[in-house]
Amino acid sequence: MQLTVWTYEGPPHVGAMRVATGMTGVHYVLHAPQGDTYADLLFTMIERRDHRPPVTYTTFKERDLGSDTAELFSRAARDAYDRFRPEAMLVGSSCTAELIQDDPGGLMSALNLPIPVVALELPAYQRKENWGAAETFYQLVRGLIGRNDGQTPVGSPAGERPRANILGATALGFRHRDDVAEITRLLGQLGIEVNVAAPLGASPHDLQRIPQADVNIPLYPEVAGTLTRWLKREWKMPQTETIPYGVNATREFVQEVAEICGVDPAPVLDAMPTRLPWWSRSVDSNYLTGKRVFVFGDGTHAIAAARVAQEEMGFEVVGLGTYAREFGREVRAAAQAYGVEALISDDYLEVEAQIAELQPELVLGTQMERHIAKRLGIGCAVISAPVHVQDFPARYSPVMGFEGANVLFDTFVHPLVMGLEEHLLGMFREDFEFHDDARPSHHGPGARVEAPEPAPQPAPDAAVPEKQLETAGAEAGDTATLDAPTDAPTWTPDAEQELKKIPFFVRGKVKRNTERFAQARGDREITVETLYDAKAHYSA
Ligand code: SF4
Repeated sequence: MQLTVWTYEGPPHVGAMRVATGMTGVHYVLHAPQGDTYADLLFTMIERRDHRPPVTYTTFKERDLGSDTAELFSRAARDAYDRFRPEAMLVGSSCTAELIQDDPGGLMSALNLPIPVVALELPAYQRKENWGAAETFYQLVRGLIGRNDGQTPVGSPAGERPRANILGATALGFRHRDDVAEITRLLGQLGIEVNVAAPLGASPHDLQRIPQADVNIPLYPEVAGTLTRWLKREWKMPQTETIPYGVNATREFVQEVAEICGVDPAPVLDAMPTRLPWWSRSVDSNYLTGKRVFVFGDGTHAIAAARVAQEEMGFEVVGLGTYAREFGREVRAAAQAYGVEALISDDYLEVEAQIAELQPELVLGTQMERHIAKRLGIGCAVISAPVHVQDFPARYSPVMGFEGANVLFDTFVHPLVMGLEEHLLGMFREDFEFHDDARPSHHGPGARVEAPEPAPQPAPDAAVPEKQLETAGAEAGDTATLDAPTDAPTWTPDAEQELKKIPFFVRGKVKRNTERFAQARGDREITVETLYDAKAHYSA
């Protein structure tokens, strides 16, 4: 286990908490020392849930280690049952409690509670959060529906509309709530009913109905993949393979699910509510085409976002990676298609080094990459967990389905467009109408003011203000403040200032060309003269 400031995934019991917290009627008893209760805050502070996770911690202390911690666990479990009266219980240990080997599963059997109890074996020192969520969901469903006895009916009842299960959404998931609503709506347009959407919003009773559907949709394979593969093997239930992310993939998903359920996809595909054609015709598409983008996230979101960026937005994928080692094979295959080598790492410093080296104009990543891009002055949009408060917007904001494709369009383009706006503001900052002390509009009475004294220039080595960096695309391509590779020539403050005058959408290219030119000449330093020499060289 690695001690780190930031981590992409928590320990596996946090994954189990995401399943339990998303559901109703489930209670999780976690054998954990005092201090491991911190995970509650993820749900109440980040997701802003209106109730605490349904988790009872045994919260043993150091002095308890000399006495009977097993007895402490049994008492906590019995009290939790009496107090919450859940339909089903999960039991397990946190990382630290795993070491004292108290066997929560065995202790629960001895309590003989009249409800299903699933004992979770989550190896905290080998596995992580998403794996923990997947294993919990699988064990819970398997514990509730058991093996296929050949008698239980599978599929929708004869004569009724086809049914689908939407699987994998949890608490603390990236836009899970709205994705499930969007895909439910899409299925409704196809004439397919949602049988069970789980874990988010489902009860143990709902999970028992899972076999009564014609298809499983693992919307988030990180969480649902283990279960749907088992349902396919054991219960012979078909599943979709396409993740409906972006216009093209959503079209493919509609065709795939329609074929499995035996419905006609044409009406939905013909009425496809997308603004893609408008985007393709708009002037924006000209100056944003070919933008160099670095994509990083969980396996599913990273692969899907790279596809949208390249196929639908016309960007160039210059880097692709994931922190989820379980999805390394899929991400490597996707990266190969873009001619890049996948970065499979959960070390954010390695991710930062690669972004600094590639100097993309846009980063599509997690909250970690948002921080990294902010520091490097590169435009960024968040497309994957780990999540932060702003990933739980009050408004409807799916990323899947046709409406999700519109949201993605805004998400990917705004950092770059705002970069253009910031550049124009910078250019006109000293204009008599637009300087900082000018009145709100030049149309109102008395709006005309004398031109002010020119604003003092910032000190050449002044740090770029936080705010300026935060407007992400603001300085898209403004890589002058990046950590340059060690053998790269350094930029003088004057040259950096000069570089900033170049429109952001070509600035990255100018910077790279100038550095290449300086390196070829053996210059250790880039001055304003070097910048213009390089310009003359490349325009010759
Ligand atoms: S020991 Fe495990 S549960 Fe406790 S703080 Fe560390 S990662 Fe979290």
